[in-house]
Amino acid sequence: MEKTRFGKTGLMVSRVAFGGIPVMRVTKDEAVKLVRETIKLGINFIDTAHGYADSEEKIGEAIKGMKREELVIATKSPADDKKTFNEHLELSLKRLGTDYIDIMQLHNIGSTEKRDACFAQGGAYEGLQEAVKAGKVRFPGFSSHSLELCTEIMKSGKFDAVQFPFNFIDNAAEKEAIPLAKKLDLGFLAMKPMGGGRLDNAGLAFRYLLQFDSIIADPGIEKIDEIREIAAIVESKPTLTAQDKEVIEKLRAEFGATWCHRCDYCQPCPQGIDISWVLSAESCRKRFTLDRFKLMLGKPIEKAKTCQECGKCVDRCPYHLKVPALIKESIALWERVTG
Ligand code: SF4
Ligand code: SF4
Repeated sequence: MEKTRFGKTGLMVSRVAFGGIPVMRVTKDEAVKLVRETIKLGINFIDTAHGYADSEEKIGEAIKGMKREELVIATKSPADDKKTFNEHLELSLKRLGTDYIDIMQLHNIGSTEKRDACFAQGGAYEGLQEAVKAGKVRFPGFSSHSLELCTEIMKSGKFDAVQFPFNFIDNAAEKEAIPLAKKLDLGFLAMKPMGGGRLDNAGLAFRYLLQFDSIIADPGIEKIDEIREIAAIVESKPTLTAQDKEVIEKLRAEFGATWCHRCDYCQPCPQGIDISWVLSAESCRKRFTLDRFKLMLGKPIEKAKTCQECGKCVDRCPYHLKVPALIKESIALWERVTG
């Protein structure tokens, strides 16, 4: 697969990366096969995080014995302070079985409080700088779901790479963040290129994304067929058609402000409600049989009925979704479909 320069890092990477969230859900053997097949397809960029359960360990197992210099490995630490950051970094190195991380990202700088803590004396950024000096990290990066903070931090000159959600529904980065990354020569990783699993037309999603020549799409991959399909689309160098544009406009109108990005930043819910699952009811109903739908959503919907409308999830949601109202819609859909 053709490689492209990842901003000022100078790293040559495939147009699509391997997003390491879904390997949490598969067995170790399946994960190993999946990562190895991905690499065989020419995808050399792997992105994971300290917080993705055993994702780093599974990836570490899969890349054992491979030529480390042929891979670009990115991971993330959610730490605010240097001490925790250093602990996370050491653990990531151990889990991944490597002595350096290509791109180490401060994970989700989503509030001014988090930003200030990371950049304070003794903060995570200090740890990141020291790790670069020590050769444990090659390039500093960060991720965010807040467009305002993201562009502000990009301009700070502290980082070489940025990760932000980007797909044809979640397209806020199109106007400012992507051109800014290009201007500043930062590597730009497009998080959730398939809308966190809600966009099921990979062809359409990637035809849209591939228009932006300076970004690398970072889809979460769970199955070998998924990565094969995506690799084939990327290899075919498709262009976005007029018909695609019409479909995108229709989907944008359909999803609007009800689009849950399944990031789970709204957690923890004091009632233990699995908010992102409950908000996925409509897309699950579209994609699965009724029996499967009942199996997947039965318990979460029962729990959702205990929502106290406390609003804590709304405050935490980076997209300001009106979660209690959306929960009610999911419950109503459940009653309609199963009643
Ligand atoms: S509003 Fe409902 S879903 Fe949100 S945190 Fe409160 S109880 Fe949980
Ligand atoms: S409600 Fe908001 S915070 Fe929670 S999963 Fe959805 S987009 Fe993320």
